[in-house]
Amino acid sequence: MNRAKHIRRKKRSKAKIFWRTFLALLLLAAAIGGTVLYFQPKLWQSLLAKVPFPGNSSSSSQKSSSGSGSKTAQTDLPDVSSSDWNLILVNRDHLQEETTPALTQVGDIQVDSRIAENTQQFLAAAQALAPEETLISGYRSRAEQEELYNENIAAEEANGLSHEEAEALVQKRVQLPGASEHQTGLAIDMSVPEGQQDDLAAKIAELAPQYGFVLRYPEGKSDVTGVDFENWHYRYVGVENAQYMQQHNLVLEEYLTMLKAAGK
Ligand SMILES: [Zn+2]
Repeated sequence: MNRAKHIRRKKRSKAKIFWRTFLALLLLAAAIGGTVLYFQPKLWQSLLAKVPFPGNSSSSSQKSSSGSGSKTAQTDLPDVSSSDWNLILVNRDHLQEETTPALTQVGDIQVDSRIAENTQQFLAAAQALAPEETLISGYRSRAEQEELYNENIAAEEANGLSHEEAEALVQKRVQLPGASEHQTGLAIDMSVPEGQQDDLAAKIAELAPQYGFVLRYPEGKSDVTGVDFENWHYRYVGVENAQYMQQHNLVLEEYLTMLKAAGK
């Protein structure tokens, strides 16, 4: 009996110690939290922003973009619509039927007339960095894209590849008919004739948004675009969109997903 009492008392005092320690820790945590809140209110704001509340839409955009500043991406989106003509999405999942945009000649290529002036100015800016910069490719009809695609396949087959092997290889550098942005007249290939060096390409890509263009297939985004890094292919999206995409390190697929999520 005595022994049982003793054990009970011992248990009770253990419980007391536990609760006292617990309360002390709780007070300590509150004190630390309060101090941090007082001196670092921004830390709390950023922590709270990461909590995936249903209305906290910024958490979904963070997943799709790795750019700095993407946390505030959805609150400062430009006043545009994802269905604007200059934001048309063309890729393997979004095939483009034959269209006949109004075209204007710029150098050796043709582009959608609405972007002719910007194309000319962008070329001039690139030529200020490297005088031999040239517009290599602009508008291509779907039929021309098909021809280009088939020619490339035939050339690889002539090199001894099977049709399947040739297709797998060619699809890395030539888009399937319907999947090429060149059909829109809003895409240009610009390079020096011997092939663009990456450092020069980076400088040109930096300038591009001022003229409404973005480097469409940047390094590190091929899992999103479905196309390997191309340092020569630019796409017109308009100055406002291009600058936003540059600032937040977004490719067109990611940018459109954000616009649509914001109901734009
Ligand atoms: Zn291209």
